[in-house]
Amino acid sequence: MLTKVIIIFLAAMVLIALIGRALFPGALPRVMRKRQKAPVCGKCGRYLIGTKTCDCGGKAK
Ligand SMILES: [Zn+2]
Repeated sequence: MLTKVIIIFLAAMVLIALIGRALFPGALPRVMRKRQKAPVCGKCGRYLIGTKTCDCGGKAK
């Protein structure tokens, strides 16, 4: 009985996650993209945090 409740609870959580993703397709991926999309210098590849230009004169991609 308890395992059934847990399985139903997990299924509900998965359903909510799927519905949330369907309603707000940009919400979760945007958070993940933020880390990957950290601006990188086009010349030397250094991470540019807070600035758009690099010390080497390159620009963020
Ligand atoms: Zn650079």
